[in-house]
Amino acid sequence: QITGTSIARGSFSDVFLGKHRYNNSTVAIKRIKVKNAHKLDKIVSREIQIHSKLQHPNIIHLYDTQINYTTNHVYLVMEYCSIGSLKDYQATHFFTEADIQNYMRQIVNGLRYLYENGILHRDLKPQNILLDEYRTIKLIDFGLAREFHDSHTDDGSSLFETFCGSPMYMSPEMIQRREYDTMSDIWSLGVIMYELITGKPPYNAKNFQQLESKITQPIVIPDKYTSKLSTECIDLLCR
Ligand code: ATP
Repeated sequence: QITGTSIARGSFSDVFLGKHRYNNSTVAIKRIKVKNAHKLDKIVSREIQIHSKLQHPNIIHLYDTQINYTTNHVYLVMEYCSIGSLKDYQATHFFTEADIQNYMRQIVNGLRYLYENGILHRDLKPQNILLDEYRTIKLIDFGLAREFHDSHTDDGSSLFETFCGSPMYMSPEMIQRREYDTMSDIWSLGVIMYELITGKPPYNAKNFQQLESKITQPIVIPDKYTSKLSTECIDLLCR
């Protein structure tokens, strides 16, 4: 049961607070509008199909899905993350290297689970990384996720060429519309780590063309941060 007005809005959805009718637990309900509920959009049915198989402490749990054939709305009922996104949390909290290490480890655990199950996320960004009340990381938004076991080669490299994700977090191979694989998500992880340290993504570009030319340059970590970071942290970031 939806209990209030929308708590957040995505590009394709509204998210509401909800309550389980019998046990009273709080949930988040993502409402997605589709053109025709009888022939669900490919993207929405893929999101449901991929998400419903996932069960991991660092992946948001999907409890249930409902379709309203009259209003053409699809509802995804998920566990609720009361702290919100890592991006919002960073706006009001200072992260030490130990905090960042803790968050990165949990993000990597979630991502490793996805890869073990043959799934690329393809839209990793701080807005899609939430914190629950215990500050446990939960990856959300499988709207752009894809299964890769069908398209990968024997050596593990895969062959996606679809252009997707948020430009600031996209890998050079994706920006340049070349083939990409799981390493593209790992690039996004590096951008997220940089942003957790400095508050901003590494490439400051006003438009796509600028980003395209800047993204192949080595990253610059301002001195005021390098002096406070361990050499292991800087080394990892530069890789
Ligand atoms: P976009 O494509 O713009 O990234 P979307 O339409 O695919 O968005 P989501 O990214 O899944 O939608 O969700 C939008 C926002 O709703 C999130 O950034 C987050 O702030 C909030 N949200 C989503 N799921 C939850 C949840 N389980 N608990 C709390 N807030 C949530």
